[in-house]
Amino acid sequence: MAGWVHEVRDLGGICFVVLRDREGKAQVTLVKKKIDKELFDAARRLVRESVISVTGSVKFEEKAPNGYELLPEEITVLNVSNSPLPMDTTGKVAAELDTRLDSRFIDLRRAETTAVFKIRHQALQAIREYFVENGFIETATPKVVATATEGGTALFPITYFDREAFLNQSPQLFKQILMSGGFDRVFEIGPIFRAEEHDTRRHLNEATSIDVEVSFADHFDVMEILENLVAYVYAQVIEKCKSSLETLEVELKVPKTPFLKLTYDEVIEIINARSEEKMHWGDDLGTFGEHIVGNYVYETTGESHYFIIDWPTEIKPFYAMPYEDRPEFSKSFDMMHRTMELSSGAQRIHIPDLLKSRIESQGLNPDGFEFYLKAFEYGMPPHAGWGMGCERFIMTMLGTENIRDTVLFPRDRRRLSP
Ligand code: ATP
Ligand code: MN
Repeated sequence: MAGWVHEVRDLGGICFVVLRDREGKAQVTLVKKKIDKELFDAARRLVRESVISVTGSVKFEEKAPNGYELLPEEITVLNVSNSPLPMDTTGKVAAELDTRLDSRFIDLRRAETTAVFKIRHQALQAIREYFVENGFIETATPKVVATATEGGTALFPITYFDREAFLNQSPQLFKQILMSGGFDRVFEIGPIFRAEEHDTRRHLNEATSIDVEVSFADHFDVMEILENLVAYVYAQVIEKCKSSLETLEVELKVPKTPFLKLTYDEVIEIINARSEEKMHWGDDLGTFGEHIVGNYVYETTGESHYFIIDWPTEIKPFYAMPYEDRPEFSKSFDMMHRTMELSSGAQRIHIPDLLKSRIESQGLNPDGFEFYLKAFEYGMPPHAGWGMGCERFIMTMLGTENIRDTVLFPRDRRRLSP
């Protein structure tokens, strides 16, 4: 076996070395009287968190953790660790998030941290499975782009040879172009970059977006895909991540589908009936409002996930399709979890003239969107889609306090390293 020295317990006549790898801990037992003196002394001198390999025999031992112990014939030190350590790995001393992120390599040696990333892995695996089984094609769209997706200023400019370019904030425009290409069901799991200066527990400047676009579909069709995906992933995580969930002391239940759908207008009523601070038609839902509605839904249904549908056209991006008979409302939705938004989606505008006029009425210049608009002029099918933040999905699933706990190397306003 090979791994890290988690702990050395030297009791004089007997010495226990706890060997740890990503799956857990194993006890290496050395009885002074029974083994070579040199081997015994070497074991007692092992430095915590050094990397070793142990050759020996495995013996059933009721008293050992996991019921087995390893009786060594040889211990090889593969690399010695310095001490003191930048942070404790045994869980005896709690470390601040910043300390943990500064020494992520050590933090990952803690079972609680490993558990989050094993679950994230399994969730992403399940997401891919779900998409493939439902006829989706996986795509990769560029992260270096010339145009902002939705206007606004939340972009990181970069130097691209002698031109200015940006890190893409969303695959939106490209996945729509693929609809014109006839790829009628696509998904992408990739990075999005947002230069927003927020410092919250649910925003990152580099996040992972799970994106979907479907042709010949409306917003209700893609909401169904989304809620079924969420339920499938929860079920898979429950089935395949038992020990990680136990480590984190998380008890998951599969959310009931279909999710409750509240209209934007109903949401205003719910908030205004419960709060001094009033929400007006045309306002976005603040953190405060999200909490009120989230609690209302949880108290009345026992469920955490729900949709807010039919948003005012003016507060949704230009590509959201307005209702034909009441154009001030759009065929758009947000999928929510008790305290935050997990996903935004909509049926998209597929009519070129309407799209152009929507771009203009949001104060954007259609010239910058030429490459995009072109795809609408030669046979663009009606389509709909959504984007969901992977980190927020994991965060709400596991109830982690901070989104940074669900990314290996988070990028935020202050953190660019490691
Ligand atoms: P919010 O209003 O909560 O900041 P948004 O409406 O700006 O989110 P969208 O552009 O709708 O975000 O992006 C779709 C999804 O991508 C969001 O619902 C969220 O899950 C995720 N997402 C967006 N921005 C971030 C971010 N900065 N950090 C983490 N996840 C994000
Ligand atoms: Mn949104």
